[in-house]
Amino acid sequence: MQSFEQSFDVIVVGGGHAGTEAALAAARMGMNTLLLTHNVETLGQMSCNPAIGGIGKGHLVKEIDALGGVMAHAADKGGIQFRTLNSSKGPAVRATRVQADRVLYKAAVRYVLENQDNLKIFQQACDDLIVENDKVTGVVTQMGLKFYAKSVVLTTGTFLGGLIHIGLENYSGGRAGDPPSIALAKRLRELPFRVDRLKTGTPPRIDARTIDFSKMQEQPGDNPTPLFSFMGKHSDQPKQISCYITHTNTKTHDVIRGGLDRSPMYSGVIEGIGPRYCPSIEDKIMRFADKDSHQIFIEPEGLTTHEVYPNGISTSLPFDVQMNLVHSIAGLENAHIIRPGYAIEYDYFDPRDLKQSLETKFIKGLFFAGQINGTTGYEEAGAQGLLAGANAALFAQEKEPLILRRDHAYLGVLVDDLTTLGTKEPYRMFTSRAEYRLLLREDNADIRLTELGRQIGLVDDARWEFFSNKIETIEKEKQRLKETWVHTKHVAVDKVNAITKMPVTREASLEDLIRRPEITYPQLMEIEEFGPGIEDKIAGEQVEIQIKYSGYIQRQKEEIEKTIRNENTALPDEFDFSKVSGLSNEVIAKLKEFKPETIGQASRISGITPAAISLLLVSLKKQG
Ligand code: FAD
Repeated sequence: MQSFEQSFDVIVVGGGHAGTEAALAAARMGMNTLLLTHNVETLGQMSCNPAIGGIGKGHLVKEIDALGGVMAHAADKGGIQFRTLNSSKGPAVRATRVQADRVLYKAAVRYVLENQDNLKIFQQACDDLIVENDKVTGVVTQMGLKFYAKSVVLTTGTFLGGLIHIGLENYSGGRAGDPPSIALAKRLRELPFRVDRLKTGTPPRIDARTIDFSKMQEQPGDNPTPLFSFMGKHSDQPKQISCYITHTNTKTHDVIRGGLDRSPMYSGVIEGIGPRYCPSIEDKIMRFADKDSHQIFIEPEGLTTHEVYPNGISTSLPFDVQMNLVHSIAGLENAHIIRPGYAIEYDYFDPRDLKQSLETKFIKGLFFAGQINGTTGYEEAGAQGLLAGANAALFAQEKEPLILRRDHAYLGVLVDDLTTLGTKEPYRMFTSRAEYRLLLREDNADIRLTELGRQIGLVDDARWEFFSNKIETIEKEKQRLKETWVHTKHVAVDKVNAITKMPVTREASLEDLIRRPEITYPQLMEIEEFGPGIEDKIAGEQVEIQIKYSGYIQRQKEEIEKTIRNENTALPDEFDFSKVSGLSNEVIAKLKEFKPETIGQASRISGITPAAISLLLVSLKKQG
């Protein structure tokens, strides 16, 4: 009999959004990788709403894509409604959002996984870790199989000690229909990590055939549809359909208030803290008591199902209250609930016990990514998964880790926020969390990251060639615009003057003209004498953004250079904060608690003043 392979370079536990990106990243980097997951059918499963992207989250998806990950590609393949949010605002806050067909999305992820070289998938629960001398060397499955590896990435999502609540009833589960991860949760609690409970929830799902859409407002997607992946093709996108909007009303709110005595959240049954920015409907009614209406998006779950997702009424109220609240909403009077809403409580680990590589501080070679680190959302999970998978591969190769800074990527902001400040509630990404928003745009994620990804083996030849051609096209076009002049006697000057309130009065290059706020690149390229310009719309947009915002971008870069000098100054493990003269006891206690790895991290801990940072720098020189 052929023996079952037992040794790998990297093992990834969990096939959700973090796990799939982690496994793909390690395998792309040439590591012999095992993805161990409860159920192969749920690879890439969206536990909650079938949508990818949105403000801040879309930026993470583009970054995953720039580093060769799967999420944007799967969103293009599965997207049934595409929108660019904030399209009338500046490029820094524009964000792509896709309503996805659950089945198509999952199929796209699974196809990529199954066709990835160096990657094996195995369906089994991981029940234990093998740890020798504070280093992880493998895992043990539910059947008692042992798999060994140089590094292990845990991406167990909401499954660790998962407890599902509907009203005052509760039962163990990883999410509705899936088993929890109890043995592994118990094992992890024996290790020296700080652990706590969080909670999240989901709304009841509804049969579209029982909805009166005439009482709702239709919300079609954008036309033409935006693409998520830099390498995406419109021909990949399936049929597009609309979402709808309705609202809660005073009757809905009365129903909810009437059921609060049987709410697990308000009766103290749930201890974990829920997501502030994705609150349950009962939470919204209580927190915003003065509002008598909240918006609900009726989002299709797919092209081959009647199931819809009412975004905005996540709830763990008892089922009879769920029915009454749904039926009180315009258009949902006769709605049939296919699946009840519920909340889930689960273990998460304090991300301050992680290094910026996402390796744990206490067990070498063990990496954590996704919801296990206190985040919420597919995008946050996928981005961490990719980074943890890459770093698990680099660890196995005995190479330096990949660390992304706050000015490199939203992923850098996410990891720095988590590992420096920790989180007491499910953490989600927003553009407001980044200080260098003008640099960290969706549109330039590939320019920021693809080369870095290529250097460590994350980016394959096809993506690299595509990217290199794009950059060459942009640079050539910028040069052409710089060298093409318009003067008052130019044959096309009238056409230029027709699109601007400030006519051309002296010689100006096309680059000068694009710098003006009222002139766009496509407008200029429509003028026969200057066009047609670059055919690739995305590259054309890039030319315009780089020219229009070059002054602001340059200023932001200079600001970064200034802070960077101290940002990366390392604080060695053995650095003794109590020996820094002049620091208050409170500051010393905070530094000891957070254990910052760099001066930059220390500076972002609340209560650590610039004066304290100066004292640290002086002391570093002395202690060093
Ligand atoms: P998951 O997607 O949960 O994947 C975990 C994977 O690990 C699964 O495949 C599981 O089978 C596997 N696994 C677990 N333990 C083991 C083990 N011991 N052995 C082998 N395999 C294992 N996000 C939002 O942004 N907004 C929301 O409103 C929201 N609501 C949610 C509501 C609910 C009820 C749930 C369950 C999730 C919700 N989420 C929400 C969160 C979103 O689903 C997660 O953030 C995202 O899926 C996390 O990805 P992950 O890869 O970390 O974990």
